[in-house]
Amino acid sequence: MNYNGFFASALDQLREERRYRVFADLERIAGRFPHAHWHSPQGKREVVIWCSNDYLGMAQHPKVIGAMVETATRMGTGAGGTRNIAGTNHPLVELERELADLHGKPAALLFTSGYVSNQTGIPTIARLLPNCLILSDALNHNSMIEGVRQSGCDKQIWRHNDVGHLEELLKAADPARPKVIAFESLYSMDGDVAPVHAICDLAEKYGAMTYVDEVHAVGMYGARGGGICEREGAMDRVDVIEGTLAKAFGCLGGFITGSTEMVDAVRSYAPGFIFTTALPPAICAAATAAIKHLKTSNWERERHQDRAARVKAVLNAAGLPVMPSTTHIVPVFVGNAEKVKAASDMLMADHGIYIQPINYPTVPRNEERLRITPSPYHDDALIDALAEALVDVWERLELPRGKQALAAE
Ligand SMILES: *Cc1c(COP(=O)(O)O)cnc(C)c1O
Repeated sequence: MNYNGFFASALDQLREERRYRVFADLERIAGRFPHAHWHSPQGKREVVIWCSNDYLGMAQHPKVIGAMVETATRMGTGAGGTRNIAGTNHPLVELERELADLHGKPAALLFTSGYVSNQTGIPTIARLLPNCLILSDALNHNSMIEGVRQSGCDKQIWRHNDVGHLEELLKAADPARPKVIAFESLYSMDGDVAPVHAICDLAEKYGAMTYVDEVHAVGMYGARGGGICEREGAMDRVDVIEGTLAKAFGCLGGFITGSTEMVDAVRSYAPGFIFTTALPPAICAAATAAIKHLKTSNWERERHQDRAARVKAVLNAAGLPVMPSTTHIVPVFVGNAEKVKAASDMLMADHGIYIQPINYPTVPRNEERLRITPSPYHDDALIDALAEALVDVWERLELPRGKQALAAE
């Protein structure tokens, strides 16, 4: 049997659909964010990164690097086991306290990634609720979809951010049945925000629990970086706040925060927590340093919003089809799998600009886009160079400009 033949034909299918993924081989230069070295087929070249989820450049903040190096020097590298065997280390305990405080909750629990926190947190919570019904937003991230699927519970999908539809589904459900409403606070492909208070109103009216993924908002919104729920004054209305340490906090790991009982139950029942090695102390200490810094420093958040607004203004003025976004995400519409890949390749090869193409299944087919993520460190000159490069690529690929391009969506 030719086993490799099966794998090769699966790959051929992706190539045929023009969504075979190629990763850029990069070396980021600490202290010179967003500059990096690209190991191109022709050798090493300097490029500018425009698609990082290290949104605030915290992965190279001196305090964060310092905490990681100092802790690794003092305590070594790996955690030495799962939390149940030997892996609980003091920096991890301190990090959980920091996270609970960040979201104004009594307790927090750390996972090895944001993906794992959703994938194991959602089904563990749902299975502990007898005959639970999960109501999931249509555009929820894959980690939430997998979590819902693995719960084995009944699920209903409500149209994205449509509280009218959510209410219909809640109204139709048995009032005696436990329900979990799962949604994101900030959707990172379109840059739109959930109506958190309206969802919480419905949860209260129909006796549902709420679970919100704040992965793309923690560190960046709210007076202390608690996310959209902090900004909206809704942290105490949401039952479970989930987030990551890998995006704005520049490290690695995921977490949930909420009631003492809920967190203790997930700690005690979640396979994706119990059976995997804990995060290393150095990573925990670095994450704590990033969170602590962003609790008091507003400079990064303000400059981040200012840069995002400037990118949107400059690209709009250049007639580029910037999709409507109310946040720091700047999606530019392409709507074609082949052309989005070609645009990304041209930007890198001819302009030294790195923007990874966004394809199906991350976004629907024919909604392919370039997803631009400005940071506090993208200055006016870099933004102007980005606009010029995009205009050049749009002309060469004969991509539509202006508002008509978006109307075709
Ligand atoms: C990136 C992402 C995750 C996963 O977080 P990681 O820490 O990268 O594993 C979860 N939810 C959403 C919405 C994400 O975009």
